[in-house]
Amino acid sequence: MESSGGRAEGLGRGPRVLVVGSGIAGLGAAQRLCRHPAFPQLRVLEATARAGGRIRSESGFGGVVELGAHWIHGPSQGNPVFQLAAKYQLLGEKDLSEENQLIETGGHVGLPSVSYASSGVSVSRELVVEMASLFYSLIDQTREFLHMADAPVPSVGEYLKKEISQRAAGWTEDEETRKLKLAILNSFFNVECCVSGTHSMDLVALAPFGEYTVLPGLDCTFPGGYQGLTNCIMASLPEDVIVFNKPVKTIHWNGSFREALSPGERFPVLVECEDGTCFPAHHVIITVPLGFLKEHLDTFFEPPLPPQKAEAIRKIGFGTSNKIFLEFEEPFWEPDCRHIQVVWEDMSPLEDITSGLQHVWFKKLIGFLVLPSFASVHVLCGFIAGLESEFMETLSDEEVLLSLTQVLRRVTGNARLPAPRSMLRSCWYSAPYTRGSYSYVAVGSTGDDIDLLAQPLPEEGAKAQLQILFAGEATHRTFYSTTHGALLSGWREADRLIALQDPQAQLPGPWL
Ligand SMILES: Cc1cc2nc3c(=O)[nH]c(=O)nc-3n(C[C@H](O)[C@H](O)[C@H](O)COP(=O)(O)OP(=O)(O)OC[C@H]3O[C@@H](n4cnc5c(N)ncnc54)[C@H](O)[C@@H]3O)c2cc1C
Repeated sequence: MESSGGRAEGLGRGPRVLVVGSGIAGLGAAQRLCRHPAFPQLRVLEATARAGGRIRSESGFGGVVELGAHWIHGPSQGNPVFQLAAKYQLLGEKDLSEENQLIETGGHVGLPSVSYASSGVSVSRELVVEMASLFYSLIDQTREFLHMADAPVPSVGEYLKKEISQRAAGWTEDEETRKLKLAILNSFFNVECCVSGTHSMDLVALAPFGEYTVLPGLDCTFPGGYQGLTNCIMASLPEDVIVFNKPVKTIHWNGSFREALSPGERFPVLVECEDGTCFPAHHVIITVPLGFLKEHLDTFFEPPLPPQKAEAIRKIGFGTSNKIFLEFEEPFWEPDCRHIQVVWEDMSPLEDITSGLQHVWFKKLIGFLVLPSFASVHVLCGFIAGLESEFMETLSDEEVLLSLTQVLRRVTGNARLPAPRSMLRSCWYSAPYTRGSYSYVAVGSTGDDIDLLAQPLPEEGAKAQLQILFAGEATHRTFYSTTHGALLSGWREADRLIALQDPQAQLPGPWL
């Protein structure tokens, strides 16, 4: 194995630390460590050619579009992403206002501006409001089962369906309206699948569901792109700290590795990259996505992880949620329209789909957000989760564009609706260093599995032996799936190392 040369060898002493991954967790950890004098020997190894990971803003349609993270969820003082974004002056005035920070949304997606049904008519606003209120009150009720040993059913989906079928039995409207109500509810199930990043709410565990914590504040976006934030963090690091295009293949740990340039020194960890380069280290902070860890569990660690840790990685859920941007010559929506809901009248949360994915994948699409126009450009952003979203990734751009044009013509009742001028989409499941979108607590797992994943290795032994530390959104028990959870997890692990080197250090944690 060829050993790395360069920056670290030329630097002063101190433990050699490697951070694997330059998403917001890895960048946050690196920023924290770089600011402490005990860590001059730091490197970040990034598999791809860019930093930011699942924060990914691209120029498109005359503006910026977010292929990954979209909003700051709960932009208020308790949210470190909000605080950093404010510090770097990346937010709009309204988003910074006290008023905005105090708004409590309960984490629920706002009501659509318009709801189109598959038969080409608009759905009555009254029915949509009634069903949204039913759906979100049931979602709120799931908190009652937090930490309950015997939740009535294993999953959020089963709980919602049980409650809905009881209520539906008492609906007195005609058959057609009752069917439409279920179809509207089905659309809210699809929204919740996007929020949780799962194929089905039947996969999401009921008892721990309420542990996910919603911060106050009305979700906001970055006018210049989310990636402005990771770019600012990156710019604060010494220039050569991040090594791009360096996919890590195997983390050899519990060893005693030498390096030609540091005779006499022993390193407990050796990080082997796909290209054969090896980096010896005292400590490694792993921030790779859970999807990547799941796929490479058998080869990524040598020796393999302790069985309980490996089991936690298998059990915690990691699903796919994607976005499809459509650009139109002219808007077909009203000027004040912000969110278009699509309701498939033949769908019900109480019935399983039996057709093959190729015929029905687009029915999982929840509808579209209207993006703020960039200089006379008109863009809709569709959201789709689950196996249907993964199937969508296997189709060509032309196939996706054609399917969505047909959907829009059908639901607007306008067979001559002009096709979108162009399309852009995310493909997070096919991304080899992500393999999905974000984590959720799956049936069969609990928040304890998240804590187990976050525990450094080796499990036993003196603190000074800390070799592998784990960060990334999936390691945060209450803020998993978010950018702030990821950032906090990076800070947590950096602080763990700082405390090891400098027990007197004043650390701002605990980072809960
Ligand atoms: C479509 C979508 C929408 C989202 N919307 C929101 C939102 O609105 N608000 C919100 O708060 N969150 C949202 N999220 C979630 C948020 O983006 C993530 O939780 C967060 O960005 C994860 O950061 P991370 O550092 O943990 O992981 P990542 O950003 O995934 O960083 C991990 C890094 O590790 C690298 N890597 C992987 N394998 C290797 C390897 N073998 N060697 C070296 N490097 C490797 C990857 O290339 C990547 O750069 C969304 C995510 C997606 C996909």
